[in-house]
Amino acid sequence: MKKSEIMAVFYLIIIAVIIGGIILFGTAFLVFGLLWAIYEILWLIYEYFYYKSNKFLQIKDDIKENIIKCNELNQHIEELKSIYNIVKKIDYGASDYIDNSNYNYKRPKLEKIKNDVNVYECSATVCKNAQAQPFKYICKYFDIKPSETTLSEFENILNNFSAAEQGKILLQNEKDEIVDSLNDKIPFLLLNLRKKKLIRKLGFDEVDFSQLYFPTFSFNYVSPGGNSSMTSETTFNIENLDKFISYLSELVKFRNSVAGQRALMTAALREKIKNRDNYTCQTCGLSNKEERNLLLEIDHIIPLSKNGITSEGNLQTLCWRCNRTKGSKIINADYIGIKNA
Ligand SMILES: [Zn+2]
Repeated sequence: MKKSEIMAVFYLIIIAVIIGGIILFGTAFLVFGLLWAIYEILWLIYEYFYYKSNKFLQIKDDIKENIIKCNELNQHIEELKSIYNIVKKIDYGASDYIDNSNYNYKRPKLEKIKNDVNVYECSATVCKNAQAQPFKYICKYFDIKPSETTLSEFENILNNFSAAEQGKILLQNEKDEIVDSLNDKIPFLLLNLRKKKLIRKLGFDEVDFSQLYFPTFSFNYVSPGGNSSMTSETTFNIENLDKFISYLSELVKFRNSVAGQRALMTAALREKIKNRDNYTCQTCGLSNKEERNLLLEIDHIIPLSKNGITSEGNLQTLCWRCNRTKGSKIINADYIGIKNA
């Protein structure tokens, strides 16, 4: 055989292998897809009939009250999370960015400038300084004036956010316990392979575990040419709120309250009050012993709106239901208007 013939055979073999490979993979892919589709269709048929069956409707009916309680707590958690928007919604107005320069170059970064209330467009220096001392610069550029009122507002935000974060975990535990208690009534496969759908079909609202509700303050710098940029961002999560309250209190020094009585609503104080009250609601007497996943909150006996202060004597433990009934949790217009006495 000539050398060129050997090469031709060699190339033919390679081409054959490649084509064979494609056919083999394609077939495997199709077969797998088909099997998967059949698997899903069988599930859908099974679930369709199961969730319509009297047996399932009876189970659902038996735990109806527990589901309503869980969904109420879920709604309450969402309310706790919205506290910041109620307190700090300042409308600075809006403006459009118009580029009048003669350059042909479009500045994409400059076009993206937002009128977001929590974003401050600033110089490189301010941005760097804000990174070094975020609290100081946030107060200065976002109009947060260090006063007793502001301090109380942020303590209230922290109090609500802490309860919300704890509530999410307790609610999830409660849901899991309810579903697990059904394990001899609900088919094994549904409970183990399709739990998410089962929970939805039972009527539970989904718990939103995202922490995106924490307010974020950003300092944003874009160079005049739009080529370089930097951002300094601080998220007011539980940890930062705790620190921010200590920072504010240093600036305020409790000017407006009875000296020595004013305490800071920190995580430590919240725990101290619950411990003092034996993890028991001071209104209805329900405790963690009777209801393991009970969400306990810290309440101002004399509300802040009525000039009550944050002091150990003015704080008590309430279960979320009693606290909700008392209605002092969500800051109302009355509270926002409290005066610096
Ligand atoms: Zn209670």
